[in-house]
Amino acid sequence: MPRYEYRCRECGTTFERSRPMAESGAPANCPEGHPDTVKLLSTVAVGGSASAAASAPAPSGGGGGGCCGGGCCG
Ligand SMILES: [Zn+2]
Repeated sequence: MPRYEYRCRECGTTFERSRPMAESGAPANCPEGHPDTVKLLSTVAVGGSASAAASAPAPSGGGGGGCCGGGCCG
């Protein structure tokens, strides 16, 4: 299940929520209970959407071909 990062505009905290992609656009309350949150860019790349993806540098330059850079390997 992909993780999405949100930021609360009320208290400024950032938090993550694991939810199905179908609910990625659903509002998420911040841990403090504030409903005024915005979804940040997803940190995990799910699927091959080669659309207008930004040229974000990969954090892990290992080149091992793994996905451990995002922490999805546990
Ligand atoms: Zn908040």
